[in-house]
Order: sequence, then C-alpha cells, then structure tokens
Amino acid sequence: MGVKVVKFGGSSLADANQIKKASAIIKSDAERRFVVPSAPGKRFSDDIKVTDMLYACYEKASLGENFDSDFENIKNRYQEIIDGLALNLSLEEEFAEIKKNLATAGKEYAASRGEFLNGKIIAKYLDFEFIDAADVIVFSDDGVMQRHETRAKLRERLKDVTHAVIPGFYGKSVSGVVRTFSRGGSDVTGSLVARALHASIYENWTDVSGVLVADPRVVENPIVIPVITYKELRELSYMGFSVLHEDAIFPVRTAGIPINIKNTNQPEDAGTLIIPDSDTEEHSIRTITGIAGKKGFCAVNLEKAMMNSEVGFVRDVLNIFADMGILVEHMPSGIDTLSIIADADALKGKEEQLLAELRKAVNPDVVEIEPDIALLAVVGRGMRKTRGTAARIFASLAHARINVKMIDQGSSELNVIVGVNEHDLHQAIRCIYDAFISSTL
Ligand code: ASP
Repeated sequence: MGVKVVKFGGSSLADANQIKKASAIIKSDAERRFVVPSAPGKRFSDDIKVTDMLYACYEKASLGENFDSDFENIKNRYQEIIDGLALNLSLEEEFAEIKKNLATAGKEYAASRGEFLNGKIIAKYLDFEFIDAADVIVFSDDGVMQRHETRAKLRERLKDVTHAVIPGFYGKSVSGVVRTFSRGGSDVTGSLVARALHASIYENWTDVSGVLVADPRVVENPIVIPVITYKELRELSYMGFSVLHEDAIFPVRTAGIPINIKNTNQPEDAGTLIIPDSDTEEHSIRTITGIAGKKGFCAVNLEKAMMNSEVGFVRDVLNIFADMGILVEHMPSGIDTLSIIADADALKGKEEQLLAELRKAVNPDVVEIEPDIALLAVVGRGMRKTRGTAARIFASLAHARINVKMIDQGSSELNVIVGVNEHDLHQAIRCIYDAFISSTL
C-alpha cells in the first residue's frame, strides 16, 4: 500500500474539535499512515499558541521566577483536549517530568514539549504508534539538522511500522540535547518523514485552501493557485510569499515528491499542489501562476560613457559590493549604464562609503542611489510558451500610469521582475492580476 505523510499545523489541532476533523481526514484515506502534528495553535484570533505559552513559561523558570500558574494553563489546554476527545489517557507523568526539567533542559526543550504532548494525544486518539521525534531527527551540537543521519534513523525506526504519529518541530543533538527547528518547523519534520518513506505525497494541512495567486491584503479575493512547480514557488517565496517553512522544500523536492497544501476546515477543496519541475505536462495552466511584490530596495545607478567596452567594469563594481558584504539582488544594464538593486536595509549607513568606493574604483560619470524601489515578480511556467506576455504586463502597467524603473527576465523565462516606485507597488500588482486573472474568470 502507498504511503501519504500528513502534517497538521497548529490551528488544525488547536482543540478537540479540530483534532476530530484532522482524524476524520486521516481515517478517510488508508494511505494516510504517518502523521506529523504541530502543537495546539490558536483557537481564536486573540488566543495564544501553546508553543508561545511554553516559551513564556521557560522564561520565568530560567529566571527562577514562579511559573506554576503558567504551567497550569498549559496543562489545562491539553486536559481540555483529552476530555473533549473522551480519551482514557493521563499525561500526569509527562507533565511532572517536564516541570522538573523546565528550567534546566533549555528553551528548545521547553518549546518542543508542545508537539511532544500533542503527538501523544493524537497517537492515542488515532490508535497509531507514537514515535518520539528525539529518536529519529538528528541535530548537530550546534543545532543544524543532519540530513543523512536523520534519514537513516527514520528508515531504520520506521521499517516495520505501519501507522505512526511523529511530533514535528524537534529532534535531539548528537550529545543528547533536545533541539528545535526555527518557528514553523513542523513542516520540516513532515518533509523529512515523507522523504525517508518515499511517500507518494506530502500533505500539509492548514487553515487556508492553498496558496493564493496574490496577497489578499492587496488583491480582493484572489484565486487559489491549483498547481505550482517547486521552481515557481521558490521565486514567489523569495519575493515574500510565505507558504511553508523554507527548509521544508528541499527534502521532498530532491526526491520528486509533490506537496499538497490542504485546508482542514474545508477538506473537499483541492488546495494547491506543488509539483516537481519536470511533471508539468499533465497539468493545464494559466500564463501566470503568481504575482508577488516586495518593498525595501534601492537602486545604485552608474553611468559612464563607453562603459560597455571597459573590460572588468562590472567585476570591479561587484567586488565593492562583495567587500562591503552587500547582497546584489538584480543587475539590469544598458550600454553605458548599470544598476545594482540591493536591499535598502543592507545599505543603510554605508551609502557614502559605497559611493566613494565606486568613484575610486570605476570613475563613473554619474553614480547615485535611488531609494524606495519595490520589486514585483510575475511568475509562471506558462510564460515560456506564450508570446506577448511581456507586452501584456507592460501595457497594463502603462495603462495604470505606473512608471517602470527596471525590467529583468531570467533566462528560465519563468519570471519577469519589474522595479517600480514603492508607492506604485500595490496598484501594479492589482493591474497585472486584473489583466491575467480577473479577465479570464
Ligand atoms: N509549534 C511550532 C511553532 O509554533 C512549530 C510548528 O508549529 O510548526 O512555531
């Protein structure tokens, strides 16, 4: 039988009712045999995630302050879940152990208990085996997850297991200390488990019905992206789309395993399917998959007569950026002009030094820093085959009277990057959305 690895986020497991929904989803498909839970998240918008309660509790404990009532609140969250699921389960021993260790076992140990305890409850409710992530997810002593060791441990531990719950977010270092990923890291655990088991799919259950074509704070009711490739997702994530934990992509991507983002509250929705870059043929597509935008850039514009015939000009310019530790984001150029787009924060306080170094190194006719630049990424594998896409993008921007400051199209033809003034960004996203998406609905 095939294997599907299913990860549920905190809001999908925030209380007994949500856990019942997740459980119904799991039980409705016999291949959903390996479950990676987060800690209970928010039940309502002002609620506090258990992970945050644990961090706060640890803070007090480590300062030697009394944390009894904070700890009691955490216990109550779990007890409510146990009661709501009518489980015959006591976590008293676990709680006593955690309380005893809280001040001394470290902040990451404290945070990890959110997933640990939720995993115990869910395993009991599903009647699946509980496997402590500390036994299968390996970190180095400085907190870096060890891919090869982890995969080997997972395979060894899971080889005769048919159904299991493996809590997300944490593991154990070589010398036995509990370590966690950064926030949202249960996504990473799910991906590692899917990879180790050669799962047919990694389902990531959350509280939205997939990835949206554009930011809903900018575009009203944007549609969901039905299918997106890993490469497209990377382009959009880089420009600010937050979908999954960054480190969750690599394990499944390298193994060619698709990810399906699904909504626990609306399981019938198809969600978004993230597929390997080579598997695109069978999916029908729109020209544009997603539109993302990010503010906070500036352009360092250089102009010099006969620049194009000066060997080493670009190298000298880039060396200065490298020596000053400033990342170059984009580098559009003309015959006698070159612009370097960089993160405005990275440049802050270094402007005068940069200009002086550039003057000294390449003696430009003009060099200036233009602030308040936003970048807009129009991403779509469909653009490769469709002529006139660029024309449509720029016609719609022109129509909205938006001044384009820079254009960059990668050789993959997957992505057109447009630089605009920050105050034009939202309008630019809206007009491209209208031109390519609204007009086709
Ligand atoms: N519970 C952790 C957090 O809140 C990890 C996760 O949910 O993925 O960040």
